[in-house]
Amino acid sequence: MDRAAEEPEQQALFGWADTEPGQTPQQPFRDSPQARRMLDVREVYAEPAALDSPRGRQIMARLPDARVTEVPSHWNIPELHGNDGNIGRWVRIKTETLVLGVKHTLATRPNGRSADWIAPGPSNGCAMACAYCYVPRRKGFANPITLFTNIEAIVAHVRRHVRAQGPKAEPNQCDPEAWVYDIGENGDCSVDALVCDNTADLIAAFRSLPTAKASFATKFVNPDLLALDPRGRTRVRFSVMPADDARLLDIRTSPVDERIAAAADFLDAGYEVHFNLSPVVLRPGWQRDWADLLTRLDDVLPARVKEQAAAEVIMLTHNQALHEVNLGWHPRAEDVLWQPEAQETKRSQNGALNVRYSLEIKQQSLARIRQLIATHAPWLRVRYAF
Ligand code: SF4
Repeated sequence: MDRAAEEPEQQALFGWADTEPGQTPQQPFRDSPQARRMLDVREVYAEPAALDSPRGRQIMARLPDARVTEVPSHWNIPELHGNDGNIGRWVRIKTETLVLGVKHTLATRPNGRSADWIAPGPSNGCAMACAYCYVPRRKGFANPITLFTNIEAIVAHVRRHVRAQGPKAEPNQCDPEAWVYDIGENGDCSVDALVCDNTADLIAAFRSLPTAKASFATKFVNPDLLALDPRGRTRVRFSVMPADDARLLDIRTSPVDERIAAAADFLDAGYEVHFNLSPVVLRPGWQRDWADLLTRLDDVLPARVKEQAAAEVIMLTHNQALHEVNLGWHPRAEDVLWQPEAQETKRSQNGALNVRYSLEIKQQSLARIRQLIATHAPWLRVRYAF
């Protein structure tokens, strides 16, 4: 893409009009009208200890007009999670409600697919509303952002874990040299950064951990992250899917073209930039549309992005309880997400009924996606396809 032609559009979108190339915006993006459309917090449910913490106080100082309700636990708030009347307000609650809590269980789990390790996340829940998102599966009837305010403890835990591993002995598909820690398993770090510094604190911590790297997937372009100076120790994974799927399923996210256009800026700001091709949703025309998307990546991305890029490919999984919630606020999405003739169910350890494409269909589809990548974006190394 012609970067000069792209810039006015970027400037209009992000409010960079007064900014010289290489400089960060004058005004934080989080104060912009675009950011407020994503998150306009009017109601906060908070554990008292979270309110009383430095991070809690920082967040509340930015929300002077929000109504605060103290709750004994961030995890099960009857007015939110147990109220089936909230389904019709699914998106509004994500925009206007925030939960503050203290994360008590700090554990890092092995992963081996997207990352070597899953770090204890700084949040749970999201202001975006992807119809297939797995995060609300255990949340009942609402899934706004819960921010964990004991970020110092989370960072200290991660530092200890990294140091205990020592250097990575052998390369693997997660990374040839560094231990990769996913820091955003249950939320979107780019959106969290609109309301607090948890993402910034984790990026800063990994800056000084030469044997490790943070990693998070995102569907939101937050230019404030460009100022965080990750020095190559944070991998951003922009999730992409065909535009028709995104319009139907990726509710409230940045348009896919904006995510692609942001890749070079993030690379230049010191991030490693990968892509999540996910979820792959099977519906009439999916192969043509994925081919178009891969062609677009090939056309738009500059060589420096391609040289370091890699991708994950993840087929859609779904869940029966979420299917029923979605029917209450976005039934059209279920026309493509819920396809019992192509999907099989599996009961998870916690008793939930999860749904995925049957093995044969999944294997054939993954093979086809790999072919499409080889044809249209041969520079894109597939780290794993699942
Ligand atoms: S951006 Fe991620 S965490 Fe947020 S709703 Fe979409 S899939 Fe879920």
